[in-house]
Amino acid sequence: MRFRPRNVRSRLTLWYVLVLAGLLALYAGVASLFLFLSLREDFDQNLLKDVETIEGMLTKEPNGGVSLHSSHPGAAEPRIGHFIEVWSPQGSLLYRSAELQDQTLGGPPGPDEGLHDPSPSTMRLPNGTRVRLASSVYHVEDQRVVLRIAYSEEGLWRELGEFGEVLLLGFPIALLLAGVGGYALARKALAPIDSMATQGKKISAERLGDRLSIENPEDELGKLGTVFNSMLGRLQAAFDQLRRFTADASHELRTPLTAIRSVGEVALQDQRSPAEYRDVIGSMLEEVDRLTRLAESLLALSRADAGHVQLQREDIALLRLAEEASSVVEVLAEEKRQKIDIAGDENLLVSVDRLILRQAVVNLLDNAIKYSPPGSQILVRVQSGGDNQVTLDVIDQGTGILKEHQPYVFDRFYRVDKARTREWGGAGLGLSITRWAVEAHGGEITLKSEEGHGSTFRVSLPLAKYSATSPLKGGSQ
Ligand code: ADP
Repeated sequence: MRFRPRNVRSRLTLWYVLVLAGLLALYAGVASLFLFLSLREDFDQNLLKDVETIEGMLTKEPNGGVSLHSSHPGAAEPRIGHFIEVWSPQGSLLYRSAELQDQTLGGPPGPDEGLHDPSPSTMRLPNGTRVRLASSVYHVEDQRVVLRIAYSEEGLWRELGEFGEVLLLGFPIALLLAGVGGYALARKALAPIDSMATQGKKISAERLGDRLSIENPEDELGKLGTVFNSMLGRLQAAFDQLRRFTADASHELRTPLTAIRSVGEVALQDQRSPAEYRDVIGSMLEEVDRLTRLAESLLALSRADAGHVQLQREDIALLRLAEEASSVVEVLAEEKRQKIDIAGDENLLVSVDRLILRQAVVNLLDNAIKYSPPGSQILVRVQSGGDNQVTLDVIDQGTGILKEHQPYVFDRFYRVDKARTREWGGAGLGLSITRWAVEAHGGEITLKSEEGHGSTFRVSLPLAKYSATSPLKGGSQ
């Protein structure tokens, strides 16, 4: 099974120690190599120097052999550790130092041995001793001889071994210190995460206003905390909106239900004529109507929120769509003797879901009718908005909307005058449905209004196709 420490701290420390161990091993290898090369260089230089010294000490014996003779008495034999052999070119051994006993430095010499550069080479004696060997050709009086000198490399390897031992001894200590230090550092660096986790555990739906405390917003953990906090902010806003929505929806549902109940209770108190009962049933049905509309609006919004609405797009002239919407609300306008004029370019096509966008325009027209005086005029104007946009304006001569209310009229359940608008059946959902519909088609809706001077709602949508502009058709404002 693969070993994998559970927490990041230990994982970081492990990695730290592993990397350090690798680096130390590399360092030890390279340092040992350099030490070895430099020791051997000294070794070889001494060897070559000794070749010259020993050449000067060679003396010819009367029996044809060769001996070593020193000007210093008692130094007839060179230092311990020197192995010396002198050969005649014909292959007879003229001298062998006592240290070698009966071992050879390689048997009779070859024809070229010692003639060229006397750079030393490494070889092993028959007993396994590793030696550094240099050969040279020399003339002892008139006799040519091949001189071989070798040093045992044991000392060199011992020194290298000692160096290695020192390194090896220091290795675990260095790793231990690195591990402890690394763990402490990782612990310190990751401490803010622990504190964030502890704080995060305490945040629940009821405490969405709490935030993580951030020590340094500039470092990585600080940035993570900031992102988390802003996510909490968005969640809190969404939660608050949902709570408000549920409270508003229940309130809106309760009002018509209370009305139905009280109308029914009053009617049951006394005996009434059929005409009176009809009246009672009529007002109950009005409230049921209101409830139905409200339920439909809520359903549309919750579907939109859940992202379940699939747009069935088709290319359609925005002007045609405005005409269709106008015919839906025509009766209401007629009741108030209002006139709806539709003007604009019929060649401006949009790619939209006909039913959804028509409902959006119906809502705008419905408001224009509701909030404008009897006998007033309502203008719907379709024109090119430039930059591949097409705009649809719904302009009324109604009460207008005060500046302070304007930012909120698209919010759910927002009504400027709650008491008055309820009379007309509005729950404050029409404009929010319209805004959703427009935005779902990649467009936007804006409002321009001044109290007493009517309102203009402008819907901008991306143009689907555009064929030659024609001048505005129909009436003007
Ligand atoms: P409602 O169903 O109450 O009409 P909307 O979401 O359609 O809800 O509109 C929100 C509020 O904006 C309305 O209650 C009304 O006060 C105001 N409003 C909307 N359209 C107009 C308009 N054309 N003229 C004046 N006020 C308007």
